[in-house]
Amino acid sequence: MDNCDLDYLSMSDGELNPSFRSDLTQYTATVESRVKTSTLHLQTSDGGASCNILFGDGSRTVKLEDGLNKVEIEVVSEDGSSKVYSIAVSKLSSRAAQLSDLTIERGHDLHPGFSPATYDYTCSARFDCCEVRVHPQTLDRSMQTAVNDTACSEPVMLNAGETVIIIKVTSADGANTQVYTVNVTREPVPLAVAFCDVKDQMEFECPVSLSALYKPVSIHQSEPKTVFSAPYIDMLTRRSKVDPFTERPLREGWKVLESELDQRMSNAPVKCFFSYRGCRKQMRYAEIGAHAKECHYKPSSDLDSVEVTETNWYRNYFASSSNTEIMTHHTLEIRNWEKRLQTALGEHDVDSLIAHAEEHFKLYKNRLPNPGDVMQYDPGQSPLDHLEQAAVHYASAIKVKPHNAKLHFLLGQTLEEHYYATEMYGLKKEAQEDDQDLGQAKSAGRQEEILAICRLHGFPGTPTAENQLKALDTELQDLRQQGQSAKADYVQTLFLWLSKKAGKQDGSSVVSDEKCWLHRALLKYLDACSLNADSWEYNLHMGRLLLLQGKSNEALQHLQSALGLQPRQPAIRFYTGLALLQKEEAAAVSKCEVVMLLQQGLEYVMAQFFISHDHNEQQQWDGGYDRSVVNAQFLRGCLSLAALLSKISSSDQAMSPEQVYHIVSGLAAQGISRCVNQGEVLQQLDSVLLEAHFALLQGLIQQQRDGKQPWIVKRCQALTALIRLSSIGPCRELLDMQEKVCQMGVLALPRCSRALCLLGLAQLAQSDSHAADERARAALTDACLSFQASIELEGSHQTGEAPKQLTKQTWWKDHLDAEKDKTVKHEAPEPKPAVKSSEAPADGKKRARGRGAPARGVLTSTVKTSAPTRVNKTATAAARGRTGVHLVTKSDGAGKTAGKSSIKAQMSSCKSLLQEKPTTSAVEVGKKSFVPRLGLARALARTADSKKQACHFYQEVIDMAPEVHDAYIELANLLLKDDPLAAVDVYSRFPLKPFCEQTFDDAFITGEIVHILMKHELYEHPQLLPNLIAHGKVMGLGCLDKYIEALEGKFMTSLLRRVYAGIHDKSVDDEELQDFFRFKCWI
Ligand SMILES: [Zn+2]
Repeated sequence: MDNCDLDYLSMSDGELNPSFRSDLTQYTATVESRVKTSTLHLQTSDGGASCNILFGDGSRTVKLEDGLNKVEIEVVSEDGSSKVYSIAVSKLSSRAAQLSDLTIERGHDLHPGFSPATYDYTCSARFDCCEVRVHPQTLDRSMQTAVNDTACSEPVMLNAGETVIIIKVTSADGANTQVYTVNVTREPVPLAVAFCDVKDQMEFECPVSLSALYKPVSIHQSEPKTVFSAPYIDMLTRRSKVDPFTERPLREGWKVLESELDQRMSNAPVKCFFSYRGCRKQMRYAEIGAHAKECHYKPSSDLDSVEVTETNWYRNYFASSSNTEIMTHHTLEIRNWEKRLQTALGEHDVDSLIAHAEEHFKLYKNRLPNPGDVMQYDPGQSPLDHLEQAAVHYASAIKVKPHNAKLHFLLGQTLEEHYYATEMYGLKKEAQEDDQDLGQAKSAGRQEEILAICRLHGFPGTPTAENQLKALDTELQDLRQQGQSAKADYVQTLFLWLSKKAGKQDGSSVVSDEKCWLHRALLKYLDACSLNADSWEYNLHMGRLLLLQGKSNEALQHLQSALGLQPRQPAIRFYTGLALLQKEEAAAVSKCEVVMLLQQGLEYVMAQFFISHDHNEQQQWDGGYDRSVVNAQFLRGCLSLAALLSKISSSDQAMSPEQVYHIVSGLAAQGISRCVNQGEVLQQLDSVLLEAHFALLQGLIQQQRDGKQPWIVKRCQALTALIRLSSIGPCRELLDMQEKVCQMGVLALPRCSRALCLLGLAQLAQSDSHAADERARAALTDACLSFQASIELEGSHQTGEAPKQLTKQTWWKDHLDAEKDKTVKHEAPEPKPAVKSSEAPADGKKRARGRGAPARGVLTSTVKTSAPTRVNKTATAAARGRTGVHLVTKSDGAGKTAGKSSIKAQMSSCKSLLQEKPTTSAVEVGKKSFVPRLGLARALARTADSKKQACHFYQEVIDMAPEVHDAYIELANLLLKDDPLAAVDVYSRFPLKPFCEQTFDDAFITGEIVHILMKHELYEHPQLLPNLIAHGKVMGLGCLDKYIEALEGKFMTSLLRRVYAGIHDKSVDDEELQDFFRFKCWI
């Protein structure tokens, strides 16, 4: 009687949402644009009830308009009660172009999550993912969708770095379109890639990692254009916001994405990582990650134990029973710092303590910061808090069960992690911060003071740490003699601070410090070993850290015991190899065995990148093997491997030293870009990177390869930039390396303006580091010559005689003499016909003909005469590299075995090399640059009688590059003493940007103007007012306090009023200001 329900309700087009239920009265439905009418199907529950359609003409066939149609159905029961069901029907407009969903197959999530009105998305993919399928969906089937202008069913091929996918949806009537974009970023391929074609290798090499570029970006208007991998240019510009190559300050929008290059590079053919093991496959760069996963030549982690057990040292070691047990005269003791850790209260169950520790360790890992992150954590929630809690729980477990070796070991690993937490991630307790590591600002301030003291004692520029300490010491003695004890105390603080800081750079001292985390970890591993000498794991870690301490004999004992227990374990093999190499009587050890052990360790790492990431398995190698890229000890071991490989004639399937160096530089670059903190981890990785770079540069120079000169110069430039931006403070080794590298660049292209300029900079730095002695003067003269040559050769071709400024330099003469000696020595006995028949003529012809080959210089003429010598010298080293010609023509044993595998590839790469036209950059015309002028100005300013000339070149720099602060500051400083107004004039020429864009560097200039004018009481000077305002605006009014006081004292009230008005952007007549002026009695 009173039932006014519907029994069912549906529409001929469009589905009700939610599904119909008698008791629900509100629904929505969407119909496509082509639908004109839709018929309602419905029935009342009670036969006696009636219903009316409250829409349109009341018919059950409803006419639908575009947009929202509110269809209501009123059901009236027999007793007159009623109920209204309503359906909000949205009819899609035929003009609408919109996706209803967008997915990318196989779990690639979009960021942000899909929403129809959001048009730009990003998405990340693994390095082995070569293509993706995109599934766009529309509500209206009449809409058309296309992915990158093709049918949606086609997969999209991914570039090696970034791929932009464009999804276009067109409205039903074809009139409107909407574009959605998805930017897919692939992870970088973890290992250094070798392109088949040398030209590709040259073009696609990232100057930082010396591996293939990843997400290439160039610097706007850089000349010549230099391209970097995005993560590495980010890393370098975090250190200094300048173009690493030209040192020009970077402005907004300096980053230019090189998508076209990325695409071209992704399609370039590359060799398999395992080509040295026989894989001949070539593939597109974009596909190498996927190939490596499937490659049958991938080294197996299942090593043959015979390789170890059959070696002499192994037999010797395990033959005598006295050796099998390490005499650990170690008594277990709980150290004070350990006692402080045993504070997990109320818990006595070891298992539960371990579970807590593991939980904390996980939290620590999850919360580690990334470079550039702002580190802010709630109290007790920082990663370091969790790591400490993990240590506390393990230590407390040890208190319960002091003879459980595993617990000691786990605590050791946690303590070792502490080292990375502090050094790599910069995590520190607030309290720790103050005395050891000052805040950044304070430490920069101290450094400034130290440099000022250095200048006072004849060390200009940035002297080495040794010289800085020397200067501080001299100052300290002076002050003591003068009886200025307060000042002397302060200088002593500086001295201690600096020596501590400098001491940090010495890797070997680190582990021996009782307070140091690594040392504590070592003690715990020792405890574990003493409780259970039969664990390969404890022995491995013990040995690894002992090696870091330089105790190679002791380390070897532990590692050999570990290897005896587990002869197939690649990590133990690697570190054993390293220990054998470092052992005092290393000569007795077979180098071949060491190479095998080290290479197997490296190969294990290489293969690990290409298996599915099972974290448990990775744990096997030094406590978290995902560490390999930040593990400087491992990377250094690989450097030793490469050095060995280039010395000995290798066995079957040996890697080329070049490939190992490339892998090391690639991994070190990855590690560096992960470091959050400029600590010891970063310094060590930096030095590994520099060493690998240097070795590869030397290798390139030794190779017989036409057209390589620009490549050499590019690498020299990259290495110089890395040295300059390195986190390692200036020291003798670095300065020497820098000078050497720059000389190499000049030797390659003696008329290259850029190379000469870099040499000048290196010589200037050398001169500064030698204070005021004879070497310093010689270096300074050379620097001037190099800069002059660089300036003179701007805009001229790089072919021809070496410039006269070069031939005057001692090192150049020495080099020529050395080359001559070599030629004389080797020429007579060694005219090998085999070499001459193929290599020499091909090379010679090319030289004679190649207009672009930098042939006629002094250098190349020596190269020419000494060519046969070089071939012989480099034959063994290069045999396994890409200079394949030697392999084919030479019959000595060195290259025989390894050569076979890839002879074809090498032949083809050689061919392409010989056919190669001189690259455009080989005859590149050097552009004018301010850098050599700035360098020359600095060099000239160092001696009293050339100051005038220095001023001239500073002026030139200012004309050429008005945005470079240094030129103004240094020129003004030169002038200040004799003519303060001239200094003001120099500063005044600086093109200041609008206030809101001014930086602290700009404020330094305005501040200097104000300082000089105020000091000389030149209140009427036209520059005073604008610079007071500019300085006050950028630095805050507080910075002007002392000037305002001085001006008040001189009753300069009109000036004061204008300064205040200017800083507040108000007129002097402003009422509020007038009140203030009256209060101040300035009116
Ligand atoms: Zn392969």
